[in-house]
Amino acid sequence: MTATPSSSLSPSAPASQDVIPLVDLGAQHAALWPELEAAMHAVVRRSAFINGEEVRLFEQEFGAMCGVAAAAGCASGTAALHLALVALGIGPGDEVITVPNTFIATTEVMREVGARFVFVDVDSRTQQMDVSQVEAAITPHTRAIVPVHLFGIPVDMPALLPIAARHGIPVIEDACQAHGAAVLVDGEWRRAGSLGALAAFSFYPGKNIGALGDAGIVTGNDVALVTRIRNLANHGRAAKYEHDLDGYGYRLDTLQAAFLRVKLRYLLGWNDRRRQIAQDYTEGLAGLPLGLPHVPDDVVPAFHLYVVTTPERDRLRDHLKSRKIETGIHYPLPLHLQPVYRDLGFRRGQFPVTERLSREILSLPIYPEMADDQIARVVCAVREFFGQ
Ligand SMILES: *Cc1c(COP(=O)(O)O)cnc(C)c1O
Repeated sequence: MTATPSSSLSPSAPASQDVIPLVDLGAQHAALWPELEAAMHAVVRRSAFINGEEVRLFEQEFGAMCGVAAAAGCASGTAALHLALVALGIGPGDEVITVPNTFIATTEVMREVGARFVFVDVDSRTQQMDVSQVEAAITPHTRAIVPVHLFGIPVDMPALLPIAARHGIPVIEDACQAHGAAVLVDGEWRRAGSLGALAAFSFYPGKNIGALGDAGIVTGNDVALVTRIRNLANHGRAAKYEHDLDGYGYRLDTLQAAFLRVKLRYLLGWNDRRRQIAQDYTEGLAGLPLGLPHVPDDVVPAFHLYVVTTPERDRLRDHLKSRKIETGIHYPLPLHLQPVYRDLGFRRGQFPVTERLSREILSLPIYPEMADDQIARVVCAVREFFGQ
């Protein structure tokens, strides 16, 4: 890598350089345009907008990718999490264990069903659920554990699964950022989405595989349970106008399923590219006073996000902005400190690792279409910030 000449240390980047976005959906969709258009034509020609065959086909294909027996498409990742809780009968008086450094959808649906969420902090190295804290959080009311594979780096499932099994508590993976990630469990590689009783995925446009709108899916190995979720998402019916469950209007659109079928063929290749970008970052940023993602040996991450840590986060963010590099913060306010949860009696200082991370984390651009010279520009700009 070439050193940045000091003449370029001006507050604004050279005009010839384009903005490097956090994600570039335009580039992805331009490349896929003919296939997306063909998929749209096929659905529109048949006007099969609701429960069309693409929905069932996508469920089968996504389930096969995860290595599970069944999958039920639905309206969003939030709907997927909600349906998983409902299908497992979780409701008022029940407790669910999860982490405070996640997107609010994880806990939103727990309140929605009337359950209480119980937080454990995250591990400072992996930034994922600190599994060593889980056992102490289990009470006679605990009805589920929801590990969140945040940034696409799987939670320590080989440690979590035996704890859950010993207590007979189902695990619901929040795999909304972990499509295609894998974990080595008992000598066998298993994909995110196949590790617990159920798993929820989001196809929000910016996820590793995104719809052209909202979409989600629930995966699992209990076919009857997943079938019930499919029926719950479709107004609690198995047959038309015969409703045997209190359900929801949470279906996956046929059009979105058709688009997702196109993209699913690329997902694992895209994830390879994400890991390559992550490796380039990790090599390029080595030796700086900057925390880099820690990936345990027994996982294959999906690198939805590449998150670095530094107490100088805000200044680094401003510097990168001045070099036309977009960044993100996932997430700036931990859930236990959210205004909406003020009634729940959480305290500042209760989850110190999550709180420190919320002040120090910065997500660098990462998306499969990112070019090598863009990666180099980000590396140079970060090194420049640290005077190197
Ligand atoms: C995106 C996301 C969700 C919610 O998914 P939607 O499709 O936006 O409803 C839930 N949990 C996590 C960790 C997410 O990243």
